[in-house]
Amino acid sequence: MKDIIKHKIDVSTIYNATAVNSRRIKRMKIMLDTFKEDPDKDKRIADCLCKYCYYIADLIGGSTPVKVECGICGKLMEFKNVVINVICEDCAKKYELCKRCGGDIEMRLRAKKSL
Ligand SMILES: [Zn+2]
Ligand SMILES: [Zn+2]
Repeated sequence: MKDIIKHKIDVSTIYNATAVNSRRIKRMKIMLDTFKEDPDKDKRIADCLCKYCYYIADLIGGSTPVKVECGICGKLMEFKNVVINVICEDCAKKYELCKRCGGDIEMRLRAKKSL
């Protein structure tokens, strides 16, 4: 049987819930504005990251070391922290892709049938 959850609601919890969510919305707006302006474009491209992965994506994940094979050339990569890439930087640069998500570096929806 599951425990029954009850949140005691009073004037201060109402105020706090609204204040927290308002702050979240403000943060999202700032993130979106930064995403649109792309102020770190040179650094972002040098890092082989698309605008989403650079400005928006949450870096969530485990802390166990993982080995990942590049999804294009098969080179073995090791990651010790939460951030995992799906392709190596050489392939990311060669094909103008984001190393983290494997999408187009400028988020263009590609129509071509090959890499
Ligand atoms: Zn590769
Ligand atoms: Zn990406």
